[in-house]
Amino acid sequence: MTIAPHQKGTCPHCKTPNRFESVMNNKESAVSMQYLVNGSNDALSVLQMSRCTNCDEIVIFFKDKMIYPIGVIRDPCPKEVPPEIALDYKEACLVEHLSKKAAAALARRCLQNMLHQQNISKKNLSEEIDEAMKSLPTHLSKEIDGIRVIGNFAAHPIKSESTGEIVDVEEGETEWILNVLEGLFDFYYVAPERTKAKRNALNAKLQSAGKPNLK
Ligand SMILES: [Zn+2]
Repeated sequence: MTIAPHQKGTCPHCKTPNRFESVMNNKESAVSMQYLVNGSNDALSVLQMSRCTNCDEIVIFFKDKMIYPIGVIRDPCPKEVPPEIALDYKEACLVEHLSKKAAAALARRCLQNMLHQQNISKKNLSEEIDEAMKSLPTHLSKEIDGIRVIGNFAAHPIKSESTGEIVDVEEGETEWILNVLEGLFDFYYVAPERTKAKRNALNAKLQSAGKPNLK
């Protein structure tokens, strides 16, 4: 599926659903569609460009495949996430548009390593998800449970037993795991740091007022 000029679509840059327009060159002519001849035969390959009217960024498709921006643009991995966890997540994001299966395997492995770091270690990922659900807020608990449901762990036990294995994915599964990872990053790594920073700021105020610190 491409996003053509004068159509509506969700922008991969700003993730906003809105209208797209033609791309102009510096002589103000529309260059949105280019029909390119393939070598000796007369087959035409279409290079199509459109511009997001919200963020003004350009989206380019070649033969119906998005070539710019490359992949799905996700928010950058928060700096609070430990490097060994962040690495699998970043690689999963990089390959998401090329191989959903590879991205899902990296994302599942990332999830399991993160749970292990939280001292949640069981026989397999499914049992670890059960354990994690006990200490997660309701929305995240439902989301992490969804990984098993959407991924149909019952039919594909390998996803639970050998998380980094390349296995067929269900529709929407890869996106779901990556979205859950983003939520867990915030819960396990970003939010505690935010709280610590607030507490330190408050303690500095209390100290200057000659009052005892918060514990
Ligand atoms: Zn945009």
